Amino acid sequence: MQRSAIIHKTAADLPVPPNLADYAATCADFSWDAARAELAGLPGGGLNIAHEAVERHVQGPLRDRTAFRFLGEASVRDLSFGELSQLTSRFANVLQTLGVRRGERVFVLTGRIPELYIAVLGGLKAGCVVSPLFSAFGPEPIATRLNIGEGAVLVTTDLLYERKVAKLRDRLPTLRHVLLVGDDNEGDEGGSEHAVTDIAGTHDLATLMAQAADHFDTAATQPEDLALLHFTSGTTGTPKGAMHVHGAVVTHWATGRYALDLHPDDVFWCTADPGWVTGTSYGIIAPLLHGVTSIVDVAEFDAERWYRILQQQRVTIWYTAPTAIRMLMKAGPELARGFSFPRLRFVASVGEPLNPEAVWWGQEVLGKPIHDNWWQTETGGIMIANLPALDIKPGSMGRPLPGVQAAIVRQREGGGVEVVDAPDEEGELALRRGWPSMLRGYLNNEERYRKCFAGDWYLTGDLARRDADGYYWFVGRSDDVIKSAGHLIGPFEVESALMEHPAVAEAGVIGKPDDMVGEVVKAFVSLKQGVEPSEALRKELLGHARKKLGAAVAPKEIDFLPVLPRTRSGKIMRRLLKARELGLPEGDTSTLEAGA
Ligand code: AMP
Repeated sequence: MQRSAIIHKTAADLPVPPNLADYAATCADFSWDAARAELAGLPGGGLNIAHEAVERHVQGPLRDRTAFRFLGEASVRDLSFGELSQLTSRFANVLQTLGVRRGERVFVLTGRIPELYIAVLGGLKAGCVVSPLFSAFGPEPIATRLNIGEGAVLVTTDLLYERKVAKLRDRLPTLRHVLLVGDDNEGDEGGSEHAVTDIAGTHDLATLMAQAADHFDTAATQPEDLALLHFTSGTTGTPKGAMHVHGAVVTHWATGRYALDLHPDDVFWCTADPGWVTGTSYGIIAPLLHGVTSIVDVAEFDAERWYRILQQQRVTIWYTAPTAIRMLMKAGPELARGFSFPRLRFVASVGEPLNPEAVWWGQEVLGKPIHDNWWQTETGGIMIANLPALDIKPGSMGRPLPGVQAAIVRQREGGGVEVVDAPDEEGELALRRGWPSMLRGYLNNEERYRKCFAGDWYLTGDLARRDADGYYWFVGRSDDVIKSAGHLIGPFEVESALMEHPAVAEAGVIGKPDDMVGEVVKAFVSLKQGVEPSEALRKELLGHARKKLGAAVAPKEIDFLPVLPRTRSGKIMRRLLKARELGLPEGDTSTLEAGA
């Protein structure tokens, strides 16, 4: 296939008229108030994500439509909108019976099983603030987040509890209730045997669900009430809890409509785990808002399985990530040729830069190009996207969504920022504040939140440029956070875990470029006096980090250094570690401590 700088869209690319056919006209007409008016609102006033996603549909024809199809290792379980309404009501009643009040924090730590989806939506229905955690986190990231978020309730499975939470329980002072899902009773009603339900505050979720009523009047939340807490990593300090409100549902609705082009008959598959923001905003909320059936695969990535799901489930819209696409590319085109995807009409990707090669791979192997889009935990929803009706420039993140005003800005001498109007200039990507799913703060960290803004501009921390046609191109991060397999990892969290090992004096952690997962976590460690580096110690440290942090966060490589480069003020110079690792120029080292 002839590869060009632009993939021009033709009528054949749009078998279904897209929700956004004319970019300029839709942007000009768009208002967030009008988008809000497309939602129902609560009967007595107010706004609640769970009401918009589930309740408002069940009075009408969507009641019996499949909301989620869970693909287990060996079984399939469908939940209709009607069943989801009843199960989320039961969960909300369980919370109420346990004395959990509105505004209290409900954490969910499970794989992609029905209970996760029921707990998130049921928690929102009850007016609680919900925080889904990634089940591949180790005990330390779990404890840190539960404590920052003052978790009152944790929904988890027997296995995860035993492996990751049980030992920490006395370090979690706010946690009053643990609701356990049996590892063998995914969604079954009725009790199951748990090793630990005799500990005060630990309950069998299925038993409580079976005892609870299946009707619940959705809490009368207001648009500015807190709904979701998503943790994200910075360069320094503990993870930040980005606070999102019920009003964010307006962005979820609008972006589901325009960026993902959801239509009522679609079968949608978002491959992201709800432990990350994409898996909540688009793996749970947005498709439900549009009454669309979602596929949820409980298993981990497997190229053949994924092709089979796309084919067998007749997926029409697929939202995935660059790392997964690169893994499919690696599995080779022959595997893909054994399958066909005649129903697939739109493919989108998010989370890391999408190589032009991957965009073309989509066109050649799936029959559809991949549409990159950009957003982050703080934005709550898609902000910049390649849209169905717009030509694609492979390598570009696309154009701002209706209602989103983006710009490239630079620090102004004397403070503040100035907008760079000229095309193709590099600067920080900024968004004009005011879209509904903008974070409302970082939990207990007002100062860090304030630093995200310069006047009316929210500063994303990403470097980018905009071309003369208004397409945005990602350049890099302006800080040291690491993007591995689409997951943001804070170097500080990894360094802290390594420092807890008795042999370690100091640790510096960087992202090392990797063809498959974008970056792998690499640590540099200097040892305490008297401790000698060895292969055995390296393995021990890798194991130590993995046990504490979990596989998703732990370093894959560790190098020993006699001393780490630090600034005179004592900060580890990760930038320098990275430059040295990659054989790049060391840049300005005037602040480097002598001897490093
Ligand atoms: P997170 O908050 O974990 O969703 O990570 C957000 C960050 O991922 C952004 O600030 C970017 O650095 C990166 N990111 C997300 N989408 C893209 C994209 N399409 N291209 C390049 N980087 C992206």
